[in-house]
Amino acid sequence: MKVRFWGTRGSIPTPGETFLKYGGNTPCLEITFDKSDDIFILDAGTGIRQLGLEVMNRYDRMKIHLFLTHFHWDHLQGIPFFAPLYSEKCECTFIGCDTVEGNLKKRLHDSVCPPYFPVDFDVFKAKMNFIDQCEGDLNIGDINISVTEVNHPGGAIAFKINETEKSLIYMTDNELDFSGNNKDSREKLVDFCEEVDLFIHDAQYTSDEYRSKKGWGHSSHVEAVNFALACGAKRLTLFHHDPEHNDKKIDDIVAECHTLLSQHTASMECFGAREGAEFTL
Ligand SMILES: [Zn+2]
Ligand SMILES: [Zn+2]
Repeated sequence: MKVRFWGTRGSIPTPGETFLKYGGNTPCLEITFDKSDDIFILDAGTGIRQLGLEVMNRYDRMKIHLFLTHFHWDHLQGIPFFAPLYSEKCECTFIGCDTVEGNLKKRLHDSVCPPYFPVDFDVFKAKMNFIDQCEGDLNIGDINISVTEVNHPGGAIAFKINETEKSLIYMTDNELDFSGNNKDSREKLVDFCEEVDLFIHDAQYTSDEYRSKKGWGHSSHVEAVNFALACGAKRLTLFHHDPEHNDKKIDDIVAECHTLLSQHTASMECFGAREGAEFTL
C-alpha cells in the first residue's frame, strides 16, 4: 500500500512562498494498492483538484472510494473541482458519517449547489454510490477498513486501513482531550490505534496555542506524540498544520517532537506531513 499526501493544511488553504515545503492545500490523501486498481482518497480538501487531474491521466476507467472524515469546509471544498466526477468513466463511492443517519447523499448534494456554486450536484456524470458508516468495519476487496468516531465539534470519524498486515490510520480533526465526558474514550482510541504502522494525526497547535483553543477540536503536537507512543505507533505524521504555521515553524515543531522522542528513548519516527510526500507500507 502506498500513500501520497495531496493536502496537509488545516482550516484554510495557505498559498505563499513561506509555505512551499509543507504545502498550502487542505486535506487530501491518496492510497493505492499493489493488488488492486481501486483508488482510495481520504478527504476532499483543495488538494483533491490536482489529484483528480493526475487520476484522469493515469487511468482509462476509474474506481474511486472517497472517505470523508466530516463536512467542515477544509475537508469538502475540493469536491466540485475533482475532475473524475464529471466523467462517465468514473465510479465514485462516498463513505462518511452524517449526524442524521442515512443523510450522506443529501448532505453532499446540499454542499454543491447555488448560491455556493454555479451548478448543482446533478452536473456530475460519474456513477455515484453513498455508504453511511460511523463505526465498525467495511471490506472493499481484500482491504479492510475500520471506522471510529473521534472528538471534534459536530462529529468526525477516523479510518484505519489494513492491507497485507500493514496498517495506516488517518485521524485528523481530533482533540486528544480525555477530560470530562471523553474520559472513557482514551482507552477505546488506544485500542483502535494499537501497533499502527503509519499514524497520521492532527497536530494543529503548539501547547501554548492549544491553551486558548480548547474545544476547537484539534490537538497539540506534544499530545499527538504522547498519544502515538501510548498506541505503539511505528511512524507518526503530524497533520492538519495551522494556517499561521509557516515552513520554519513546522520545522521547529518537528524538531521538538524529535527531542521529546529522544527523551523517551522511543524508536518511533516522526515527520511533518508534506504535500507530495509518499510512504510505502
Ligand atoms: Zn479540518
Ligand atoms: Zn474539522
